[in-house]
Amino acid sequence: MQNILDRAKALAPEIILIRRDLHRNPELGFKEHRTSGVVSTYLKNLGLVPHTLAGTGVVATIRGNRPGKTVALRADMDALPIAEQAGHDYASEAPGLMHACGHDGHTAMLLGAAKLLALNNDFPGNVKLIFQPAEEGPGGALPLINAGVLENPTVDAAFGLHLGTFVVRAGQIALREGPVCAAPDTITIVVRGKGGHGAHPHLSVDAVVAASHVVVALQTIVSREIDPLSAVVLSLGTIKGGYRENVIADEVEITGTVRTLSPEIRAAMPERIERIIKGVCDSMRCDFTLTYEEGYPVLVNDSTLTTLVERVGQRVLGASNVMRAPVPSMGGEDFSYFAQKVPSCFFYLGALNPEKDCHYPIHHPKFNFDEDALPYGSAMLAEACLEYLSSAQ
Ligand code: MN
Repeated sequence: MQNILDRAKALAPEIILIRRDLHRNPELGFKEHRTSGVVSTYLKNLGLVPHTLAGTGVVATIRGNRPGKTVALRADMDALPIAEQAGHDYASEAPGLMHACGHDGHTAMLLGAAKLLALNNDFPGNVKLIFQPAEEGPGGALPLINAGVLENPTVDAAFGLHLGTFVVRAGQIALREGPVCAAPDTITIVVRGKGGHGAHPHLSVDAVVAASHVVVALQTIVSREIDPLSAVVLSLGTIKGGYRENVIADEVEITGTVRTLSPEIRAAMPERIERIIKGVCDSMRCDFTLTYEEGYPVLVNDSTLTTLVERVGQRVLGASNVMRAPVPSMGGEDFSYFAQKVPSCFFYLGALNPEKDCHYPIHHPKFNFDEDALPYGSAMLAEACLEYLSSAQ
């Protein structure tokens, strides 16, 4: 029997074909109808019995030839509302939509892993394949869990990965235990004054000036209230208000993202933000409303499973190709809901390659990844399952 990486590399042309087909046909969250059809058809051809769950989610279980635990592999399937600026011939054919986060690759790699495992089920227990909708929002992991994806058979552990075009190249992985991704919360602030003519400011209450002070004052939360050794992001992405150059605006809306790695700091953020806005608005005679919406939880990797993936990586990729990531990302990732329920490990699969123009960050209109990474991802996912199942008796 060939080793898992050689078997995965033999599947590479097939995995790349699937990836390019999905890349040409991107679909937004919960609209992944064609994508889940492609996934279901492929799984059926492997002799599996896929079910749809939470709308466009697809789930199938590969049963080993003897009893054991159940481990889940998860891939996300959705694309982004970004118009692609492609330098290749498999560009998005859906106007304004693009796989700019590599989820086409994640889906193709999990199908590759499914084939590796389904063609040789000489292992104990089960592997549950989870093809998830809407990672980019509003989130498909929680609806899948609420629909019972972690039951029948009950899932004991989970693995997932994300392609990365930073630092690590094809054939390499990076991972860490503990916090991996941040909790990305959303704020919407509306500052209300009293409109009027720009020539007579004393007869109005200027919402633009007050909102401007709010924007600046909010920066003091991270710079003055948070321990400099703790990570918090408060980025205000939009500010909208006003009508005309000589009209004093009655209302300004500000939106932003608040990202934290610690539950205690996260819990204190709404009070901090509201206190600053209130102070500024009171001082400038404005009213305001603040809406604070909690996003995904912090993604926390289990230490035992992180060591397991590291060991598998050292065996499959070679010790020098497994990096420990020194710090978490302040990005969000709804794999965190699975990691809250069962011990999990989410790792980064290297796909940086400047020579192939694969160096743009995720969510960039020119984002692309090195397809040489795909068989490594399939092999890592499959081998992590086999290692878990054989050691978890
Ligand atoms: Mn992503």
